[in-house]
Amino acid sequence: MRRTDFLGALAAVTFAGMSPLAVRAAVPNSTRRVLWLRRSGYDDEIMAPFCVDGRTLYDPGYKLICWLMRDRNVPMSQGYVKIDVVEIEALWEVQQMLGLTGVREPLIITSGYRSPQTNAATEGAARNSMHLYGKAADMYVPGVSMRDLFDACWSREVAGGIGYYDDHVHLDSGSRRWWVGDITVPQRSV
Ligand SMILES: [Zn+2]
Repeated sequence: MRRTDFLGALAAVTFAGMSPLAVRAAVPNSTRRVLWLRRSGYDDEIMAPFCVDGRTLYDPGYKLICWLMRDRNVPMSQGYVKIDVVEIEALWEVQQMLGLTGVREPLIITSGYRSPQTNAATEGAARNSMHLYGKAADMYVPGVSMRDLFDACWSREVAGGIGYYDDHVHLDSGSRRWWVGDITVPQRSV
């Protein structure tokens, strides 16, 4: 398959007919929002409630998520920062979407916040990466293909930036755009 065909096919298919509407229907009002994350290469795993009243951020759960997504290559004082709440909601929505298809696995985070020095040392990282602002996560899910994970991200109404890689999918809370590997493709109007 030529790259252009591949790109077209990637964006044309939505995730098994699922939509954020389906998520909303399955999780009415979402009063309690819990994000299940594990850090790749470490034993850290959290089941963190970041919202318990359907409206406001629940600080203890939020701090756990920030802790799990910290930059592990620098001291805690530099690596533990506030992760963008929109990004956390995006991850939660993707997890709900997967849950609707029967997936019962955590999102495995391979990269969350990156300090400037870590980002500079990361191969293929954008100089102005959203990881630098705590607005991005690289992840995979056991038993879920990168393709299906990409589609779960893509099916969100406000999709943010999505990157498709061999071993992870990048999801950030920036503007809606997508790319394969380190090649940015023209924005689609969807
Ligand atoms: Zn990334």
